[in-house]
Amino acid sequence: MYRFENIKQIHLEITDRCNASCPQCARNILGGKENPHLSKTELSLADVKKILPPHIVHQLKRVFLCGNYGDPGVGKDTLEVFQYLRETNPEMNLGMNTNGGMRSPNWWASLAETIQRKGDVKFGLDGLEDTNKLYRKNVDFHKAMDNIQSFIDHGGRAVWEYIVFAHNEHQVEEARALSQRMGFEKFTIKKTGRFFSNTRLKGRERQEVHDSQGEIEYFLEKPKNPDYQNTSLQKEGAIINEFGSLEEYLNQTQIQCKTLEEGSIYISSQGYVFPCCWTGNQLYLWYNRPRSSEIWKVIKESGGEEFIDAKKEKLENILKGKFFENIQKSWNCSSLATGKLKVCSKTCGQSFNQFKDQY
Ligand code: SF4
Ligand code: SF4
Repeated sequence: MYRFENIKQIHLEITDRCNASCPQCARNILGGKENPHLSKTELSLADVKKILPPHIVHQLKRVFLCGNYGDPGVGKDTLEVFQYLRETNPEMNLGMNTNGGMRSPNWWASLAETIQRKGDVKFGLDGLEDTNKLYRKNVDFHKAMDNIQSFIDHGGRAVWEYIVFAHNEHQVEEARALSQRMGFEKFTIKKTGRFFSNTRLKGRERQEVHDSQGEIEYFLEKPKNPDYQNTSLQKEGAIINEFGSLEEYLNQTQIQCKTLEEGSIYISSQGYVFPCCWTGNQLYLWYNRPRSSEIWKVIKESGGEEFIDAKKEKLENILKGKFFENIQKSWNCSSLATGKLKVCSKTCGQSFNQFKDQY
């Protein structure tokens, strides 16, 4: 059961804006047009102080800024939010995930000095100058590198996260060597689980990438080297052999909620509170009709979004409320048809876990 006093970590989506247009990100349609359902919202410093007042910040071990629909690097008050959190809790771990291609080296120096050594920033850099832009569309590689160098030179702990595709798998070792020369603390390979159609429940070898007019520009392909492929996607055939279909596996699998175990919750840029980013990700999917995904059904059955809005309601009350209760109840339903959430079966089931198998 979700209890306020067990919450140790907050994943905060401070904005749903971004300077980039990554083809497998929910904020745009296959890297082209912007997702028309986006709410275009942002949490200000005043919002964060209201949602996370000092007594909550004192309780936390970690806050990290990431999200489903935006990059915290473009958040209007991102630096000020980190300053508030650090001043309120000098010991907590602070972190952020970003493409690094926004703002100035001075801003990144201030961020490093604010986070200090108690936390890190994960930079999504999927290749080198000629290839990073094929996934991190619109990110200027040199600008990102100048920003990151400034962050590192001012004491920041930087992690390079490299999603491997067919077009950049030959550059992994070159990028690793560059990360060492620049002073990154860590270089991490990410084996994306997104070569998978959520609507057809089926893996795929490649995905089209659109331009700003919605025309096909090129294709992203899975890496050829099996060491760089997501192991859950490799298991698809075995699961179908055992259960008859992926859908039947999702009906039957036991759910072990990751964030309940780790005492973590997710807050979206509207201020809505979810058990995790995966449930929050269902809010504005471009391929669904607005407010029609399974998570909206649970929100509506639980009284509506005002009951999960931390800008209006205390976190303590939201965690005790119907929404969190209904999500937990759904795990014991016998099938997707009777209310088991597909997102929970897919993310926290026992055998097929694209997210866990990324690293
Ligand atoms: S940088 Fe992040 S938020 Fe921005 S488009 Fe890419 S994945 Fe989405
Ligand atoms: S997807 Fe469902 S089961 Fe998994 S962490 Fe989120 S709420 Fe928990």
